Amino acid sequence: MSKLADSKTLVSTDPTRVPFKVLAFDLLALGKRKEAEELASLGRKEIQLAEDEMPGLMALRARYGKSKPLAGAKIMGSLHMTVQTAVLIETLADLGADVRWVSCNIFSTQDTAAAAVVVGRGGSLDRPVGSPVFAWKGETLTEYWWCTKEAIVWPDGTGPDLIVDDGGDATMLIHLGTQYEAAGVVPEFDPETQPEEFGVILDLLRKELVVANGRYTAMGKAIQGVSEETTTGVKRLYEMTARGELLFPAINVNDSVTKSKFDNLYGCRHSLIDGLNRASDVMLAGKVAVVCGYGDVGKGCCQALRGQGCRVIVTEIDPICALQATMEGYEVKTVEDYLATADIFVTATGNKDIITAEHMVKMKDKAIVCNIGHFDNEIDMAGLEKMQKNGGAERRNIKAQLTWPVLRRCKRTVELSVATSRLSLTNGISTRPSEASLCWPKAA
Ligand code: NAD
Repeated sequence: MSKLADSKTLVSTDPTRVPFKVLAFDLLALGKRKEAEELASLGRKEIQLAEDEMPGLMALRARYGKSKPLAGAKIMGSLHMTVQTAVLIETLADLGADVRWVSCNIFSTQDTAAAAVVVGRGGSLDRPVGSPVFAWKGETLTEYWWCTKEAIVWPDGTGPDLIVDDGGDATMLIHLGTQYEAAGVVPEFDPETQPEEFGVILDLLRKELVVANGRYTAMGKAIQGVSEETTTGVKRLYEMTARGELLFPAINVNDSVTKSKFDNLYGCRHSLIDGLNRASDVMLAGKVAVVCGYGDVGKGCCQALRGQGCRVIVTEIDPICALQATMEGYEVKTVEDYLATADIFVTATGNKDIITAEHMVKMKDKAIVCNIGHFDNEIDMAGLEKMQKNGGAERRNIKAQLTWPVLRRCKRTVELSVATSRLSLTNGISTRPSEASLCWPKAA
């Protein structure tokens, strides 16, 4: 690992930084020890159950736990902080790595798992011995990017040697940071043309340029490689490679058959229904469900919904995938064809603006809209926010992660919620949850 030695490029860090940030320790700080202990203890039990489901990782521990081939390696992960990810983190640590972790999604953290990983095996709330995690369920975008930055910067100011990325956020932060450090300036955010989240990233990097100029350039030089988990993240990496911008080697995990043909298909087949039930508990039998995208994820979603007794409609832009859907007996239509009649819409394309705010206005009462593809923009949340700002919609919180934006123009209420669920990869490399953002229009 020749590059490890070079990674000691010191850039000063804030001495007031916290070593980790998870819900259990926030509760502890508020004097809620019992709740904190319950989170950590349940997390440990859940991790033990997950270990049995992940024989690949357990075999790695057995085979390499003594020789510690990862000794000296600093590994940063940006991957859903679930119990299955906890098994991955603890395996990397058992193999000798120095691990820091952040979730790659503001909603998917299981606070139990995060607590148990920080406490560690044999540790306690008062003497945590696990790996640093920066993640809790229901982060704001600003908190999310703060967490990513905290996880990526080691206490001595250096960065990771290796990144385990899911969706490419950690990779993007380093690349944008490097780019702006070279330019000496972070560009202004344009709210008209750029997504809100990009403004958050620019704000963070603007501050970073003041306090730690050179940090991301040093990191980019020291990193030996990134493994990228998901379809969309991998596509972004190929685009960066084509533009000659990729700063370090990348491993395409998604295109390994044990990932895309198993996790994407069967994992999402499991998670879609789980997410829908947790968020809405609406009986699916007899409903009309539109699945947008008939790739690996869409195929799993269609199977799951059909299994529940839904009449499934598919939208596709690829003729072969559309034909596959037809041959499986699904009707292939457009979203617009079913706006007024479908009960459930699922986006699984990796593309953007699949369900727009205008679509939602035209949906029937209590339609459910959920995303299991690329979470940033398949559903036009920015459009809903815009409607909210213009007074055309209102967001009402029902319970944690469950809100009702009221679309005033058509006097409907849309319920938006997010649920998480878990699944394990058959080869034990990694695990991931899925999310479902549900929109439930209802007469106001
Ligand atoms: P894929 O490329 O196999 O399938 C996507 C399909 O969507 C393609 O067939 C494509 O033709 C179709 N499509 C694209 N734009 C469309 C549009 N406007 N309308 C209708 N169809 C359209 O990709 P995949 O592996 O199925 O992954 C899909 C998305 O799900 C990606 O963003 C991926 O990163 C994400 N993903 C999520 C999870 C999870 O756990 N939630 C797991 C794996 C992948």
